[in-house]
Amino acid sequence: RVKEKWAATRPKYPPTRLALQHMDAVYGAQLGSLWPSVRVALLCERKYGALVNTHSHHDVISELQHHGCADFITSTALQESVQVEGESQSDLRTTSDVSPGLNANIKCFVFPQGDISRFKPARPDANGLLGYYLMDAASVLPCLALDVREGHTVLDLCAAPGGKALAFMQTHGLGFVCLNDSSVSRTMRLRRVLHSYIPKALLSDHRLRISSFDGTMWGQIERGTFDRVLVDVPCTTDRHSVTEEDNNIFSKSRVGERRRLPQLQTELLLAGLEAVCPGGEVLYSTCTLSQQQNQAVVEQAEQLALERHGIQIQVVSLKPLTRNFTNTFHFAPELSVGELVLPHLAANFGPIYMCKLKRLT
Ligand code: SAM
Repeated sequence: RVKEKWAATRPKYPPTRLALQHMDAVYGAQLGSLWPSVRVALLCERKYGALVNTHSHHDVISELQHHGCADFITSTALQESVQVEGESQSDLRTTSDVSPGLNANIKCFVFPQGDISRFKPARPDANGLLGYYLMDAASVLPCLALDVREGHTVLDLCAAPGGKALAFMQTHGLGFVCLNDSSVSRTMRLRRVLHSYIPKALLSDHRLRISSFDGTMWGQIERGTFDRVLVDVPCTTDRHSVTEEDNNIFSKSRVGERRRLPQLQTELLLAGLEAVCPGGEVLYSTCTLSQQQNQAVVEQAEQLALERHGIQIQVVSLKPLTRNFTNTFHFAPELSVGELVLPHLAANFGPIYMCKLKRLT
């Protein structure tokens, strides 16, 4: 029998175990009877979606349909929008209920509920551009909620490795795009992803800027500039934390970093609120179930934006968007602000939290 070489240095309490203990205590209280089924799903293999790259010349749509996949955005949304016409609007909790326009260019194919088939790796077309990008299908929802339109200037404050940027960059005729991530190595990965999916002409300096600044300092660089800002913050990445020992934020050496997350997330969201123009919109998102990193951050940032910068904001209900997708995702019931996709064995996407904020002044 071969003795495992690293047995002597293996921590007594591996980070995945510490993560699960923490989540049992915190999410058990937060989610109540929903937690056991969410927990099982978190520990099982996640389900991917194939974000179609409309810039590629491959006919990947027929190929994906041939394998039994369907675009959850077009198929479900069209079907359900007919059904909800004339429905009462009384379930809208927040002050604005403008339905985010469903972006016709964002297509994401998934296997049917309960089907855990895997996608084949995407192939390059004659120009070297790949036909689709594999990502958690729930990660596409913040990009739909961001509601990027032709002519918009867009900032993605924490952009690497670039899945969400690729999704909103499917929108044709964008004004100017600014992709930032404080990590230099991850910014390099972002550049590689962009070169594999986006034509060179759209990557020129007058259309796109890529930077590696600390996003919390953005207010000192540019204020009141962008039509849309995506703030997809670092978080406890719950699914990763309960399944992978490497790069795990629950490891003992990262306790301080983990405790500082809500503060960092609030500072990043505040910077996003400073960067957006009055009338523009910010989309805050995470991939954690943590109320402290989700709703509490939004509520704190809303208060600080007014106190520190005199910026008034309004939470925009995402119900008109999410109710289109209840056949594909399991959403948490009634949060104080924002929407949360809960992992579920039959639809093992998420967790993804998102909240949309409109800057009024
Ligand atoms: N939006 C990305 C995507 O869809 O591929 C994922 C972003 S990931 C959840 C969070 C990112 O925030 C990491 O790439 C990390 O390097 C970056 N980050 C952490 N601290 C930051 C800061 N102070 N300013 C800007 N980016 C930061």
